[in-house]
Amino acid sequence: MKTNRLLFACLAWLLFAPQVHAKLNVVATTADLAALAAAVGGDRVELTTLARPTEDPHFVEPKPSFIVKLNRADAVIEGGAELESAWLGPLLAGARNPKLAVNAPGRVVCNAGIQMLDVPAQRDRSQGHVHASGNPHYLMDPLNARLAARTIAAAFTKLEPASATVFQANLDTFTAALDARLAEWRKRLEPFAGRRVVAYHDSWAYFARRFGVRVDLFLEPKPGIPPSPAHLAAVAAQMKADNVRVIFQEPHLNRRTADTVARAAGGTVIEVTQFPGGLKGAGPGYLETMEHNLRALVSALEAK
Ligand SMILES: [Zn+2]
Repeated sequence: MKTNRLLFACLAWLLFAPQVHAKLNVVATTADLAALAAAVGGDRVELTTLARPTEDPHFVEPKPSFIVKLNRADAVIEGGAELESAWLGPLLAGARNPKLAVNAPGRVVCNAGIQMLDVPAQRDRSQGHVHASGNPHYLMDPLNARLAARTIAAAFTKLEPASATVFQANLDTFTAALDARLAEWRKRLEPFAGRRVVAYHDSWAYFARRFGVRVDLFLEPKPGIPPSPAHLAAVAAQMKADNVRVIFQEPHLNRRTADTVARAAGGTVIEVTQFPGGLKGAGPGYLETMEHNLRALVSALEAK
């Protein structure tokens, strides 16, 4: 009788105990990729982000702790297109994790299937130019973020098939929210079609294309090359001549430089970011961060 009761208790536990799922241990290189991974992975992933959201994604300071994190990871999510080429390779070599080897299921490269902009006919690394293989800031177009989220969901499903339905449901929720926001954002920017904006670094090529604005004057003479006073003076003169008033400023770039040019040209500096957590009050997710950028741009364009 006693044995029966014990057997019954065991059976009941097996039937009714909550299912325990293994969590995927995921490392994302930058905070925008981490936000997409969090949206798709939900509580089925344990996430670590390497770059701080206020750090230049091209020049992230490598730390020994990154190697430990990569060594223990089931997956690494990277932007690709050489965004992390200056710093991720040596960290992965040090981590010696076969799960993250090139073409392994745990190596998730998010620019796969994305149409890259500014791809030069010939690779151009002159003067340390950091967009030598094209512009890697493709997530600033929400439709590319949609594609990257899908890439991440496919990778998670391959790595943890038991959670496939959860990943799919999370992806569907994120995609539906993104589609709704995108339609609204495009409508808000419609009255400003063709307006020009200055940026310090060309993180905005995909954003500009999607939202119908032109971001074609840069404080940097080339991506990753610090500006000279002569170059800044030429940009300020161009802004005045063409009546361009708004300058995009990202947290990892020199605010004082942007302020100096704005003063000389009678322009306004607005704070925008690629990275969730990069600006106070911009919200923790990808959509909240884009909402902040859109709102900042629309109010600056309305004011000028
Ligand atoms: Zn760049």
